[in-house]
Amino acid sequence: MSISAPQPKPAQPGNGSRPDQDDSATAVIDQLVAANERYAEEFTDPGMDARPVRHVAIVACMDARLDLHEALGLELGDCHTIRNAGGVVTDDIIRSLTISQRALGTRSVVLIHHTGCGLLNLTEEFRHELELEVGQRPSWAVESFKDLDQDVRQSMARVRTSPFLPHRDDVRGFVFDVTTGLLREVDPA
Ligand SMILES: [Zn+2]
Repeated sequence: MSISAPQPKPAQPGNGSRPDQDDSATAVIDQLVAANERYAEEFTDPGMDARPVRHVAIVACMDARLDLHEALGLELGDCHTIRNAGGVVTDDIIRSLTISQRALGTRSVVLIHHTGCGLLNLTEEFRHELELEVGQRPSWAVESFKDLDQDVRQSMARVRTSPFLPHRDDVRGFVFDVTTGLLREVDPA
C-alpha cells in the first residue's frame, strides 16, 4: 500500500516539537496511518484477554488535553475508556457500561469531567440553531452544563440508578484540571 510522503520521525521524540505534523486536514489521516506502521513494527502481541485487568471503566470527556492513561497511571489492558463530549452519562454510555460490566467483568466506574470543557459554553439553544440550519431537530440532547460539579453528580446518579448495571457501589466522580493535571473528587451528596 502506498502512503503519500511519510515524514521522518522526530529526532528527539517527547521534546514537544512535532516536526512530522502538517495541519492540512487532507494529510492528517495519512500521518496517522504512517505512525501506525511505525507502531506495528515495534509491537509485540501482549497476549491479553479482552477483560480489563483492573476491572475498571472510565467515563471521560473526549477533550484532547486529557490523557487518561498517563494521568491515572494506567497501562495497556488495564481499563475500559468510554468517552464522549463532556463525559456525560448518556444512554449510549450506559450501553457501554452494561457491556463492560456484564460481558467483560468491570466492577468500578470512574467519571471524569474537566475544567475548560467545551460544553460549558453551549446551551440547549445549540439544538434549536441546528434545527434552523439543517431543517431537522437532533434526537439527542446537547447535555450542556453550567456547573461542573453538579454535572458530575448528575452523571454519578445516572450510573447509580441504572437498572442495567450490576455493580453500582464503587462509582466516583472527578474534575480534571487541565492546567495542573490534578483530579479533584466531587462529593456525590
Ligand atoms: Zn470536555
